[in-house]
Amino acid sequence: MKSEKRKYKHYKVWLNGKVIPPEEANVSVFTQTALRGANVYEGVRAYWSDPNENLYVWKLTPHLARLFQSMKIMRMTPPFSREELQEAVLDWICQNAFREDIHFRVVSYFGDGGAGGVKAYRPDEIDFGSFIAGGPREHKEDIENGLHLCVSSWRRISDDATPPRVKAGANYQNSRLAAIEARENGYDDAIILNQAGKVAEATGANVIIIREGVAVTPPVTEGILEGITRRTLLGMLHSHLKRSIVERPIDRTELYIADEIFLCGSAMEVTSVISVDRIPVGDGKPGPITRQLQEVFFNAARGFDEAFQEDLLAVY
Ligand code: PMP
Repeated sequence: MKSEKRKYKHYKVWLNGKVIPPEEANVSVFTQTALRGANVYEGVRAYWSDPNENLYVWKLTPHLARLFQSMKIMRMTPPFSREELQEAVLDWICQNAFREDIHFRVVSYFGDGGAGGVKAYRPDEIDFGSFIAGGPREHKEDIENGLHLCVSSWRRISDDATPPRVKAGANYQNSRLAAIEARENGYDDAIILNQAGKVAEATGANVIIIREGVAVTPPVTEGILEGITRRTLLGMLHSHLKRSIVERPIDRTELYIADEIFLCGSAMEVTSVISVDRIPVGDGKPGPITRQLQEVFFNAARGFDEAFQEDLLAVY
């Protein structure tokens, strides 16, 4: 159930340069974003630190870099520069006066292109816009308990049709089909296979498995979003947990015999998978490497690890 706090519609929105009340933050039904899901976005977290009495945006620079990559692939003229969006994020947080963990989205969209439809992309044909919306996000119980997943009967979208490397709103229709099917069948979420039948990712997170102490994850060419958390955790597995990392295609049956599996993403953070297709992962409880990694990750994100200071942007 969605808690009251999770309702982002209670909080002010930054829309095209202004922080405004949520009820005024409207985008027209004539825009390509409303009609065809023509937008790209980032989901970002900021973590509150009690000892420092400050809020830190986690990994904003790589998120904005990926947003610009998504716009480049979609030939969208950036409505704002990276510097302007970074300022906008800080302004939006300050005007909402958040003093707790938050999650927010930075979205850039194709506006009204008149009769141009999907062909309109030049600035003289169509307008572009950006917005930032979000709110408090509490620590999820799933982080402690883990998830029951299935392998979806749906296949992941691919780079030669609707590239998953682009974090486009429309890509989440593929995730939606898989997530709803999973819920209908009594699972928490799904792992989606790519067009070659190998493991791609979950509906909104990357997948990393542990086999005989080695961390294995699909390479970025397997039809996945190039996750920022994935890259961060691979680094932490290597530097902090002294684990070997292998990026290679993963077979479906490896999910059944992995010692540990976890999902990772800005929203998902680091969350154990405790069964796949009702087959327990390991002993059916969150595994020791995943638990250690959670500790390293949250220490870094909350500003307690010197090695990750550059990944934090202090708000206040
Ligand atoms: N894959 C998909 C499909 C996602 O939606 C996300 C969440 N953005 C991820 C992977 C993880 O990416 P990140 O760690 O950059 O949030």
